[in-house]
Amino acid sequence: MNSGCDLAVAGAGPVGLALALAGVEAGFTVRVLDRAAPTVSDAEERRYYALSPASVAWLRSLGAGDALRDACPYSHMTVWENDPRHGLEFDAGDVGRAELGWIVGHGALLGTLLRRLPSQVLCAGAELVSMQRQARGLTLQCAGGLQLRARLAVAADGAESSLRRLSGLVAVGWDYDQLGLVANVRPQRSHRHTAWQRFLPSGPLALLPLADGRCSIVWSADSSLAKSLLTLDDGAFAQRLTEASQSRLGEIVAVGPRLAFPLRLRHAPLYAADGIALVGDAAHVVHPLAGQGLNLGLADATALIETLVEARTVGRCWHAARQLERYSRMRKADTLRMMALTDALVRLYRTDNALFKILRREGLGLVGQIRPLRTFLARQASL
Ligand SMILES: Cc1cc2nc3c(=O)[nH]c(=O)nc-3n(C[C@H](O)[C@H](O)[C@H](O)COP(=O)(O)OP(=O)(O)OC[C@H]3O[C@@H](n4cnc5c(N)ncnc54)[C@H](O)[C@@H]3O)c2cc1C
Repeated sequence: MNSGCDLAVAGAGPVGLALALAGVEAGFTVRVLDRAAPTVSDAEERRYYALSPASVAWLRSLGAGDALRDACPYSHMTVWENDPRHGLEFDAGDVGRAELGWIVGHGALLGTLLRRLPSQVLCAGAELVSMQRQARGLTLQCAGGLQLRARLAVAADGAESSLRRLSGLVAVGWDYDQLGLVANVRPQRSHRHTAWQRFLPSGPLALLPLADGRCSIVWSADSSLAKSLLTLDDGAFAQRLTEASQSRLGEIVAVGPRLAFPLRLRHAPLYAADGIALVGDAAHVVHPLAGQGLNLGLADATALIETLVEARTVGRCWHAARQLERYSRMRKADTLRMMALTDALVRLYRTDNALFKILRREGLGLVGQIRPLRTFLARQASL
C-alpha cells in the first residue's frame, strides 16, 4: 500500500499520539506508524506520569481532558534526604495555583488519545525499516510492506528511534547504571495529595499519589540494588519500601507488580533535518527524578505544531528546513536546562564527598526558609 499524507509520525507512544491529534485538529492529514498496537488496558495500569499544568492544559485544549478522569491532582511536594526536619516543602499556593500537577495513568492517556483520533490515522503493526528522501517529501517503508509518502516525518519512536538513525541525526549521552523501578503500592496513611521524594545515596525514591489512595512509586536505584529489589517477595519489598520512605506514609501494606526501566541521559544536538523533526524521547531522554520526560515531549509536540501552523498561516512552506530549524532552536534551550538540572541532582546525591553531604543537608533546609527561592523551585516543579 502506498498512500500520502502531510505528517507521518513514527511511534504511537504518548508523544506521537498527542502530536497526531494536534496535527489532525490543525487540519493536517496525519498517519501514525507503530510496530506494536498501543497498550490501552486501564485495568492493567502500572505506569503513571506526573503531568505539569502546561501539559494538562494542552491535552484539554485538544479535547483529551478525559485522560484526567481518574487522575490524581497533587498540590504539595515534600523532598527530603535523611532528616525530614531539613526537608523542602512546596505548595501549589506558593505559585498561585490549586495544583502542582496531576498523576495520570499511561493506559488512560493512550486510551483517550486513541479514542479522539480518527481510526484511519493509526497504522499498528508497522515497524519502520527504511526511508527515502524525494523532491517533495519522503517515503517511509515498514516491515510488512506498508509504504507512506509524507511531506514531513516526525520521529516519536522513543529513545532508540529508528527514524532518527535513518535520517542521519545522532543522539549522545550516557547511562546512569541505574534502573527506575515502578510499582503501585498501598500505604497505611493517606498520601494527602502530596508527591513525596526522598533522595537516597543509591538514587531518589518518589511516591506519587493516586486517586484510589495508593501511590505510584518510582525508585531509581543503582542497577545491582534495583535487581535485588526486583527479586524480593512482596512482603520483603514492602518492608524495604517502608524503611526507605522512613514510614512517612506509615507502613506499605500492599504492593503490585514491579517493572524496571534502564535510566540514561540522551540528547540529539539537532532536533530536525531535511524533512524530519524529532520529538519526545527520540530527541532527549532525562533522568525521571523530576518527572519531566513526557512533559518535555508534549512541549515539543506543542511547539512543532504551532511552528507549522504559523508558517502555513502566513503562506510559507510549512515543512521547509527554516521552520524545522526554528522548532529545533525553540525546544533545545528548555530541554538542556532540565537536563542539566536533573543530571546535577543525580550527581550531587550520589557523591560520598563530605562537603557535598553537608551542603545537601543544610542546603535543602536553607532553601526551604527562603521564600522567593522556594517559590522559584515550586514554579520549576510545576512547569
Ligand atoms: C521510571 C520512569 C518514570 C517516568 N516518569 C515520568 C513522569 O512522571 N513524568 C514525565 O513527564 N515523564 C516521565 N518519564 C519519562 C517518560 O516515560 C518518557 O519521556 C515518555 O514515555 C516518552 O514518550 P515517547 O512517546 O516519546 O516515547 P515512547 O513512550 O518510548 O514511545 C515510542 C513508541 O515508538 C514505537 N516504535 C519504536 N521503534 C519503532 C519503529 N522502528 N517503528 C514503529 N514504531 C516504533 C514504540 O512501539 C512506542 O510505542 C519516566 C520515565 C521512566 C523511565
